[in-house]
Amino acid sequence: MTEKRDDLYLPSREFVEQAHIQSRAEYERMWKQSIEDPDTFWGYIAKDFHWFKPWTQVYRGEPEIGDNEWFVGGKTNICYNCLDAQIEKGRGDKVALLFQGEPEADCKRFTYNDLLKHVCRFANALKKNGVKKGDRIVLYLPMIWQLPVVMLACARIGAVHTVVFGGFSAEALADRMLACGAKKMVTTNGYWRSGQKINAKANADKACMLCANAGLTIDDVFVVDRMVDFEVPYITYRDTALSKELMLDEISDYCPAEKMDAEDPLFIMYTSGSTGSPKGTLHTTAGYMVYTYTTFKYIFDYKEDDIFFCTADIGWITGHSYIVYGPLLNGATTVMYESVPTYPEPDRFWHIIDKFKVTIFYTAPTVIRALMNQDIQWIEKHDLSTLRLLGSVGEPINPEAWHWYSHYVGHDRCPIVDTWWQTEAGGVLISTIPGAFGSKPGSAALPFFGVKPVVLRSRTSGDEPAVEADVNEKGELCLASAWPGIMRTLYGEPERHQNGYYTQQPGYFFTGDGAYKDVDGYFWITGRIDDVVNISGHRLGTVEIEDALLSHPAIVEAAVVGYPHKVKGEDLYAFVILDKNSKESEEDIRKELKAVVRSDIGPIAVPGKIQFVREMPKNRSGKVVRRILRKIASNEIDEISDSMINILAEPGVVDEIAQNRIGDK
Ligand code: ATP
Ligand code: MG
Repeated sequence: MTEKRDDLYLPSREFVEQAHIQSRAEYERMWKQSIEDPDTFWGYIAKDFHWFKPWTQVYRGEPEIGDNEWFVGGKTNICYNCLDAQIEKGRGDKVALLFQGEPEADCKRFTYNDLLKHVCRFANALKKNGVKKGDRIVLYLPMIWQLPVVMLACARIGAVHTVVFGGFSAEALADRMLACGAKKMVTTNGYWRSGQKINAKANADKACMLCANAGLTIDDVFVVDRMVDFEVPYITYRDTALSKELMLDEISDYCPAEKMDAEDPLFIMYTSGSTGSPKGTLHTTAGYMVYTYTTFKYIFDYKEDDIFFCTADIGWITGHSYIVYGPLLNGATTVMYESVPTYPEPDRFWHIIDKFKVTIFYTAPTVIRALMNQDIQWIEKHDLSTLRLLGSVGEPINPEAWHWYSHYVGHDRCPIVDTWWQTEAGGVLISTIPGAFGSKPGSAALPFFGVKPVVLRSRTSGDEPAVEADVNEKGELCLASAWPGIMRTLYGEPERHQNGYYTQQPGYFFTGDGAYKDVDGYFWITGRIDDVVNISGHRLGTVEIEDALLSHPAIVEAAVVGYPHKVKGEDLYAFVILDKNSKESEEDIRKELKAVVRSDIGPIAVPGKIQFVREMPKNRSGKVVRRILRKIASNEIDEISDSMINILAEPGVVDEIAQNRIGDK
């Protein structure tokens, strides 16, 4: 049993005894060294990788202005380290990738040997068709096994991949292609989504046309066949069927790995676009490699026999770092699943855990809340006893969801790591290290190695120096160090890189998130700084209010935004989703919600308006896009632009919510 002490949940003795790091003191010692002597700390870890040429300097740069280089002068290849190096360590016959397609029977196991062969063949096919080192290439691919294979093939030959979430529209895809100037793309003939065959190629074709209209000609579109009997039109001078290329005799099973400079670009990844237009974070080779390896090993307390299942989409940084690169660099077995958690029934994740005997499960609060709203029999009918550790990522996890996750999924036995980070970071920045110290529901806990978070008071003028907030005082979460996985720039937008991260609190990396630190040094994320609402001079973080609303048993999702109010300056507008089994009237629930907020936080935080909605406007990574809700609440619906709508998983919900907007009395 995990032991509870106040709100601190400690790992069991059995867990601690087998863990990589077994005490807070040991963690503190390592963290201190990582900050005071990063060269020794990271140099020691990096020497276990395969280098074509060793580095001459571990770190060079000026972290205060975002100028960072790691493993300077070294030559390596991340694909080589993910595959060849694992095979050299004797893992050739170990399962590297377990792919579960949407149809249950469509399940594939790839050993490290198999994966290397596929990756080499794809790499050779791309090379034969002119893809070379330094080319930017967009991968408009859904969650099919070919996606990690093509990513690794690109990394092997030095092409810079940009994965664009498969569910994005042609417009959203074209925006990203134009932003990174990629003239090559890999896509698929189709994929499964909730029993439907989705035609990805039609969107890809339209995006190419949109790019051409904007002056960017797409030279090559490579098409992967995911569907067997799904014909899509080909444009002969531009499109190449990769399945046919792969059958050619000249495509060999081996492709040498390009010797990449430590700082050569590895990929460009667009942020989720929750707070503004997406930013193309550029990640480079060696630092990202060493950082994802290390975070995966210690945060998930990874051991050789673990089966790791991360439910994120690979079109999001979490999928890059914790489905593909982090696990493979550790020689792990990683599970990837093509479709949604509720198809064909709401127990698909539990079924996958049972089927593959998953030991570590990593998902998002939005998924947990959706699944805890289902009948309990869906989870109880599966054997989840192989699980030993659970993770959460993407947004603060509200205590109700934390407890449900811990009890029903973790059987009060598995530690939970709440991992706070962002696309810009490459890997997790703040988390529990599960054998070393306990978790507090709702807190991301302590910084990872190499990460030095500080909570600063907000500055009102350019001349003010940075001032650290007191213990328990809310402020702006900033980072005072450089870690190897940090993005190097925003691709093509160096000024936005400077202005967006290094000017708000000069000398620090500005995360855009609010937080406070408690007496135990634990960090609590209070949401986006932009989401702070100012009511009659009181600054309120919306996460706290959402947590209060979510503590009502009839509420499954809640999002709170501010809107202009004549008297108070701003007032609060809450959007909530009701539990489908709730029998109470909306009016009664409204009254109860107001009462809950009043007693949990105070009268000042009671939302003036509460609207019941069927679905939230969520982006591809499952986050509520509050800037759209703010426009609706403020009655500025005309200002909701296409680019805001394009990032949504279900764009139609915006009209629906806008139509039912609660007006002013
Ligand atoms: P954009 O930067 O384009 O507005 P985004 O910030 O949603 O989009 P991501 O990089 O995918 O894009 O998300 C990172 C953000 O997600 C963090 O800054 C934080 O606000 C939130 N987040 C992620 N994990 C956690 C967590 N464990 N606890 C609290 N918040 C989290
Ligand atoms: Mg962000």
